[in-house]
Amino acid sequence: VIVARDKDFLVRERHRRTGRSLSIAYSAAPLKIVGGEGAWLIEEDGTRWLDMVNNVCHVGHCHPRVVAAAQTQIGHLNTNSRYLHDSLVEYARRLTAQFPDPLNVCFFVNSGSEANDLAIRLARAYTGNRDIITIDHAYHGHLSSLIDVSPYKFAGPGGEGQPAHVRVAEMPDLYRGRFRYGDAEAGNRYADSVKDQIEALAAHGRRPALFFSEGILGTGGQLPLPDNYLNQAFAFVREAGGLCLSDEVQVGFGRVGRHMWAHELQGVVPDIVTMGKPIGNGHPMAAVVTTEAIAASFANGMEYFNTFGGNPVSAEIGLAVLDVIRDERLTHHCRVIGDRLMDGARALAERHGLIGDVRGSGLFNGIELVRSRETLEPAAAELERLIAGMKSRHRILLSSEGPHHNVLKIKPPAPFSAEDCDRFLNALDEELTLIAKGG
Ligand code: PMP
Repeated sequence: VIVARDKDFLVRERHRRTGRSLSIAYSAAPLKIVGGEGAWLIEEDGTRWLDMVNNVCHVGHCHPRVVAAAQTQIGHLNTNSRYLHDSLVEYARRLTAQFPDPLNVCFFVNSGSEANDLAIRLARAYTGNRDIITIDHAYHGHLSSLIDVSPYKFAGPGGEGQPAHVRVAEMPDLYRGRFRYGDAEAGNRYADSVKDQIEALAAHGRRPALFFSEGILGTGGQLPLPDNYLNQAFAFVREAGGLCLSDEVQVGFGRVGRHMWAHELQGVVPDIVTMGKPIGNGHPMAAVVTTEAIAASFANGMEYFNTFGGNPVSAEIGLAVLDVIRDERLTHHCRVIGDRLMDGARALAERHGLIGDVRGSGLFNGIELVRSRETLEPAAAELERLIAGMKSRHRILLSSEGPHHNVLKIKPPAPFSAEDCDRFLNALDEELTLIAKGG
């Protein structure tokens, strides 16, 4: 039996026993959450918080169907994938059915980072090349191999800089980048930066193994891509003998509303798709989906074994998540509520000059705050105040994103309702009014 400790004790012991680099939200007044339901988190004393930054518990905190699937299977068997098991094969069939041909093979792993690391190995095996192209400000995971391809980490505090095998393409930011909204050629122009990286490699006699992309850029600042960007970038990479990866760890499983996968917004079919976070609704599992040809090149004699990947409990949980997304029409729901949220925020922009840009798709959105719509000076301190006010006065949990820390990040569990959305918009209106008054 675990004793319920007070928050001061937990903070002290957490720092002492789990390392100072393990970050904590709202560190000045951390929350101790003991329960969850739908889009809500519940504190020890029963206080309910509207969770607007959790794309992990995608089908809703503690969804009863997912909980039941886990409980039932763990009572039957949980072991590695060395024996035949119905759930493993059924799940592989159901997951790959979410993709068009030729994406017919999946590998099961335990985290988004593991998925991306395996993707690098697959791409190197298939292409025989080593170099990787990534997009500026991206994050793809915490393993050494992924810090290497995450400018968000290697170019930030504690980072060791850009490794020699990695090339960084310009971030296609339609709001404050070199090519902006209204430029019909922006997608092609930004994709030229991918071509530039390929040419820089070629100058040294090298070719890319893999291009990392996301259908909507997360750490870049919740940025949808310009039309035709991935189409053009993928063409350059493939022409040079490389493979194209879509990292769906943040944005996959219907969050973007119109499609199951964010790269579908760009009308492309990647060679490798990695997924994590929402795949198990909080249970640690992840996957890589790829083509039979790429998978075959990886079967080069070295065994692939992953102790926990594809275990029966994870497979049953994964199946339950897919069932709930289908049965509750969550992808459609994300679209409807996401549109309501963005329409509402754009209406607020008419009265609140701080709102510079409202963007996203479905329930993956960013609201970028600026001090001036001419200079686009980032309003990071104002955003910090806004997030604090949303928490203390409205019990709404949010966070910031983007290279300038001035983008309000929105990615609630999919059951986030129309009522929750209106609660958020009213609170946003109130807080922006207070900030404008210097409050
Ligand atoms: N890719 C992206 C786009 C991510 O956002 C993350 C996690 N934030 C990862 C990969 C790594 O996933 P994990 O933390 O499960 O290893």
